[in-house]
Amino acid sequence: MERTLVILKPDTIEKGLIGEIVTRFEKVGLKIVAVKLLTAHKELVERHYPADREELWVGIGNKTLDNYRDLDMNPKDSLGTNDPKEIGKMVRVWLMDYLMKGPVLAMVLEAPHAVELVRKMAGHTLPLIAAPGTIRGDYAYDSSYLANSNKRAIENLLHASGTKEEAEYEIPLWFTAKEIHKY
Ligand code: ADP
Ligand code: MG
Repeated sequence: MERTLVILKPDTIEKGLIGEIVTRFEKVGLKIVAVKLLTAHKELVERHYPADREELWVGIGNKTLDNYRDLDMNPKDSLGTNDPKEIGKMVRVWLMDYLMKGPVLAMVLEAPHAVELVRKMAGHTLPLIAAPGTIRGDYAYDSSYLANSNKRAIENLLHASGTKEEAEYEIPLWFTAKEIHKY
């Protein structure tokens, strides 16, 4: 058995898509072992996206540069830099604002291979290139270019832990042991 953290971000709640998305997880057989609606505070979001996780910010920067390349756009025009780490740090600020801008629905889902399964269902980080049939591909169209030109995070409906280790780090930030149910 494996557990993963899913956070339905404020755009999902605003669009009234909680039911649609939770239904998809239930249909696949993922078991909801914890769930709550909350407005995340700064300290929680800071810990969820730690500033010192270099590889995360460089990774986000590189994904952004790839998207600019695909669109034949110059990152310097909208971001003022083409250094992946600097871009990652810039995105971090927007990302924290995004997660705090309204209530989110946090969940712990359980199944064999839960992490990989949920990532597959979520689809690519950038809704523009997420495949149809995935959550991000079916319900959103945002891109790095659109988001970055407006100095905001990419609105892609949900967070899902990227690895088993990430899940083990993230779950206790959002839920106490008592809030996670066995059934
Ligand atoms: P994922 O959510 O697919 O695991 P990452 O962990 O790489 O993706 O990035 C975390 C979040 O940061 C993304 O879900 C997205 O909301 C936001 N984000 C990533 N890259 C950018 C970018 N270039 N501009 C704005 N927001 C971004
Ligand atoms: Mg991630």
